[in-house]
Amino acid sequence: MHILPNSTFFVVALTSSVLATRRVVATATATSRTIDNLHRLAEGINPCSCQPVSTSTMSTQDTLKCSTESDVSSQAKSNSIRDIIHLESRGYDIHSPNNIQKRADYLSWDDYFLAVAYLSGQRSKDPHPSSDSSGGACIVDAMGRIVGIGYDGFPRGCSDDCLPWASPAVSSNTVEDDTRGEEAWLNTKVPYLVHAEINAILNKCSADVVGGRMFVPNFPSNECAKFIIQSGIQEIVYVEDHDVDSDSSRASRILFEVAGVKMTKIKPSVPSITINFRTGSSPLSKRTSNEVQNNNDIQQNEDEMEKYLGILHREASLDPFTYKVKKRPDYLSWDEYFMGVAFLSAQRSKDPNTQVGACIVDQDRCIIGIGYNGFPRGCSDEVLPWAREASCDLHKKYPYGKFRE
Ligand SMILES: [Zn+2]
Repeated sequence: MHILPNSTFFVVALTSSVLATRRVVATATATSRTIDNLHRLAEGINPCSCQPVSTSTMSTQDTLKCSTESDVSSQAKSNSIRDIIHLESRGYDIHSPNNIQKRADYLSWDDYFLAVAYLSGQRSKDPHPSSDSSGGACIVDAMGRIVGIGYDGFPRGCSDDCLPWASPAVSSNTVEDDTRGEEAWLNTKVPYLVHAEINAILNKCSADVVGGRMFVPNFPSNECAKFIIQSGIQEIVYVEDHDVDSDSSRASRILFEVAGVKMTKIKPSVPSITINFRTGSSPLSKRTSNEVQNNNDIQQNEDEMEKYLGILHREASLDPFTYKVKKRPDYLSWDEYFMGVAFLSAQRSKDPNTQVGACIVDQDRCIIGIGYNGFPRGCSDEVLPWAREASCDLHKKYPYGKFRE
């Protein structure tokens, strides 16, 4: 994993005694769908079902014979792995009922990517996410790496306090609430908001996202569908379609079908995911010390509102000082968000004792790497030992992976 200059490295460890300070993801959901092929490759070595071989009956010759036979069925390979582990570890039996098993409730890859999409939505300042927007989005490339995240927001440089947050149902943002037609539309967030899917594509951290998958809570609008298709993304993975009969959803389905973009509705395998930042180590603990700065921010925001009052009033009869609907106050800061991704990454770990996650971020706030504690690529989680304590060091997990405990 390459760490770029000026990148930020968030590392967290999850234990059963984590203290709750904030509930971050309320409805993260996921799937029982197929896990990506790479993951299967890494985990797919099936333990053999033959009788264990005692140390006294094993020899290097037996092992060599087993691994060089012309019949290289998976059973033979499995036997070979079992035998070599038994021999080289001085007696570790991968079939012993006393072995500590991997954690059963780790997040699947699809759970994880979907949770990142939900978490990204928590960055949005939209106080009332509309049903035609997913709120958050996560793009995953063909190698299973996160290469783009996005959330609903105004374009770069547009103050969250100057433009209106009212949804169309509210009809108007101003105190003088009797506008109709074009002016009413201009009073809502609709003409100004960039949806999460488009932001994820525009903010991608790779040259392109051709062949990638996009994870979103809600089925994309037709406006987003155009960008998704043009970006080369080949699959949309979503949980719900709130407006399944709307013209927008119908147009999206037509576009995706014609363009050959796969639409996959998935059923979450977990109803919710809660991320608890530990007291003291949470970036939230810094919030109190930042309150002075927040006051400065308020003054700066008011200065901006004053600065753009003329154009807002002239073109849309808007007065940001009279907005009834304001940005959501409890959105996640960037640090909280990236720490949340690190926490989510930790939940990918199969280690039954301690789950450690990491998230690397570059100077452009792009996620350029995530990780969690585990065995090297290709080494089955079913075969190598997970124990922290054992009579022999080779029967513990430490020689086989990176575990900082
Ligand atoms: Zn959209």
